[in-house]
Amino acid sequence: MSYPNSQPGICYTRPPGTNVPTRTAQLSPVSTTPDVTSGPTGTPAARNLTVLSGGMGGARFLQGLLHGIRAGSIPGVARDAQVTVIANTCDDWWVHGLKVCPDLDTVMYTLGDGIDLERGWGRREETWSAKTELERYGVEPTWFGLGDRDIATHLVRTQMLEAGYPLSAVTTALCERWLRPAYGDTLTLLPMTDDRVETHVAVADPDTPSGRRVVHFQEYWVRLRAQVPAETVVFVGLDQSTPAPGVLDAIAGADLVILPPSNPVVSVGTILGVPGLRDAVRATRARVVGLSPIVGTSHVRGMAEQMLNAIGVEVSAAGVGLNYGARGNGGVLDGWLVDERDADQVARLEAAGIAVAAVPLMMTDHDATAAMAAAAVALVTPA
Ligand code: GDP
Ligand code: CA
Repeated sequence: MSYPNSQPGICYTRPPGTNVPTRTAQLSPVSTTPDVTSGPTGTPAARNLTVLSGGMGGARFLQGLLHGIRAGSIPGVARDAQVTVIANTCDDWWVHGLKVCPDLDTVMYTLGDGIDLERGWGRREETWSAKTELERYGVEPTWFGLGDRDIATHLVRTQMLEAGYPLSAVTTALCERWLRPAYGDTLTLLPMTDDRVETHVAVADPDTPSGRRVVHFQEYWVRLRAQVPAETVVFVGLDQSTPAPGVLDAIAGADLVILPPSNPVVSVGTILGVPGLRDAVRATRARVVGLSPIVGTSHVRGMAEQMLNAIGVEVSAAGVGLNYGARGNGGVLDGWLVDERDADQVARLEAAGIAVAAVPLMMTDHDATAAMAAAAVALVTPA
């Protein structure tokens, strides 16, 4: 099958002398409002924000952040600020011959207004004919559903990868459709690495000689519904991976690095686990602020709880904050937001050298999420 370079839209074959796929469609520029939002105390507004994101939690946060930036409701951030998202790719896997990147796609579809809001993943107005047909052939895994619309994304991605493009270039090409029309050059989505990396989870299985079985993260989450305890989490290939192009520069050149309320183990933890990435966060001149994905004694949705248990970290806002650690003490955080219900944990975190504030941290709508982002920025904006 060949995809000639002259075909409009995305090119699957690498044009001579170019690295990045091109599109022929002209996209109208996005209008930006001049910077009017200086810091609370007149400090220069942040122009470059870098966010280390997982899927649903990260994407919802980004929606609120971008909403707030555009509305000028985040003091200390310029209205034409550049936002770079570094997304987790350790959930990725190959299924039915297709490369599926759940967190990249959740961010892309959410910010591009194509997400199924109820499910929180995949395409809106989805149909499932291909899934049904695969089941009729008896093709496994039947527990993993790929919708028909979604499959188009995976087909494009897989064919570009097989034509030799790195995942970062493929992501850029996909985002031409999903992000550029609304955000122009102000929003960039990068995979954390172009290398193949996969989270696997060890679960108890009395039917095997070792008494345990290792499954891909997707099988743990989708088939087992994270309902069996995770004994260990293994990040296959992570310690051999290298950051994707643009990732280290986005951290070094940022004014603010934000750890959204994403899963601290299998989303932010894996991003920080790409060799060189944690050091880049520690070394950046930017302030680094995170928001707790744990409210009270539980994650709000998802499975942060199971993953924290697997790595032996206390399931609390303080547990996660202390596990990230203070930048002044070998960790990555300057500031950490906890929910107002967890205000009793503030002193413990401050004693570890982290600036902390307790505010509402439920992402109920864009305004509430933008207020969380504003509180995060204010926490680390010098007085
Ligand atoms: P995933 O890749 O789809 O699991 O998404 P992320 O890793 O980006 O985020 C998942 C985590 O977001 C969950 O484990 C929750 O702890 C957290 N989360 C989801 N909704 C909320 C919310 O409204 N408030 C807070 N504070 N955390 C949330
Ligand atoms: Ca994920």
